Amino acid sequence: MKYLLWSLIGILSLLSSCTGEKKVDDKKTKDTKDGNIILEIPNVVEDSIYHFVEKQVAFGPRVPGSKAHAACAKWLESKFKNYGAKVMLQKFKADFHFGGSAEATNIIAAINPEKSKRIMLCAHWDSRYVADKDKTRKDEAILGADDGGSGVAVLLEVARLLQKYPIDLGVDIILFDVEDQGNEKTTNSWCLGSQYWVKNLHQNNYRAKYGILLDMVGSKGARFVKENTSMAFAPTTMNKVWTLARELGYSNYFVDEESEGVIDDHYFINTMLSGSIPTIDIINRPKNSRFGTYWHTHNDNMSIIDKKTLGVTGNVVTTVLYNESVGAF
Ligand SMILES: [Zn+2]
Repeated sequence: MKYLLWSLIGILSLLSSCTGEKKVDDKKTKDTKDGNIILEIPNVVEDSIYHFVEKQVAFGPRVPGSKAHAACAKWLESKFKNYGAKVMLQKFKADFHFGGSAEATNIIAAINPEKSKRIMLCAHWDSRYVADKDKTRKDEAILGADDGGSGVAVLLEVARLLQKYPIDLGVDIILFDVEDQGNEKTTNSWCLGSQYWVKNLHQNNYRAKYGILLDMVGSKGARFVKENTSMAFAPTTMNKVWTLARELGYSNYFVDEESEGVIDDHYFINTMLSGSIPTIDIINRPKNSRFGTYWHTHNDNMSIIDKKTLGVTGNVVTTVLYNESVGAF
């Protein structure tokens, strides 16, 4: 097991005000001379996350109703099962705004399903059916390496690490389907998977302490700002995540700035559940373009994916979880 100095330093400062009272697992922690507790957090493997993006892209565009979509679902299900998660497939019929429908699937992987304290992590696993922001081949589906693929890849890596280095915390990874098949005029034409899930929670009265949504978290030079809907419903979580990222040395990526709200799965989770699972969105918002120049174009392929960015996002999410597991987040 390789521990990174940054994680030790990050945790030290977080725990300095709350040492002495909590029971922690000896295997994951050790005391220092000054009485602080160091929590050892495994480092994500950038190559592993990158491979998970590549693998999804290799299926082709994951548009609901396509063969690639069905094959990718099977692969995701088997990966989470191999990582020891309890997997549930929530199937539903998606009616598209442009006509027609397809069978769709939310993929839910519960880690430590018996634990009552739970954190929800989510991403969307479908990719867009058109390249409407491109100049050519506008009517062809996109590969969605970043828009869809990157968030899913980071969450697969989280599942892999949690199996290898278990923690005392329930984690639900939810991959929503049919996020990206909407049109700009109709808000609820987006995020059909999360809208369905909110109306049909996979467990009666399901609750998580908070949720973290990852969308477009793997491109070169990504810039994550404090998105407005997240700040309205989950300001505490959002501020803590950005502070943690800064302590890990990632303030170039996690910029302390607010931005306009976006329609993404967290919007429906927050509004339709009246904030009972406060959920933030970590999403790329570059300075000079809405979501990156590659967004909803054919350039959203492996060439814009950066291992470093994937590693940054992965390390932030895992550090949140390992801290949370000892009550230090
Ligand atoms: Zn999209």
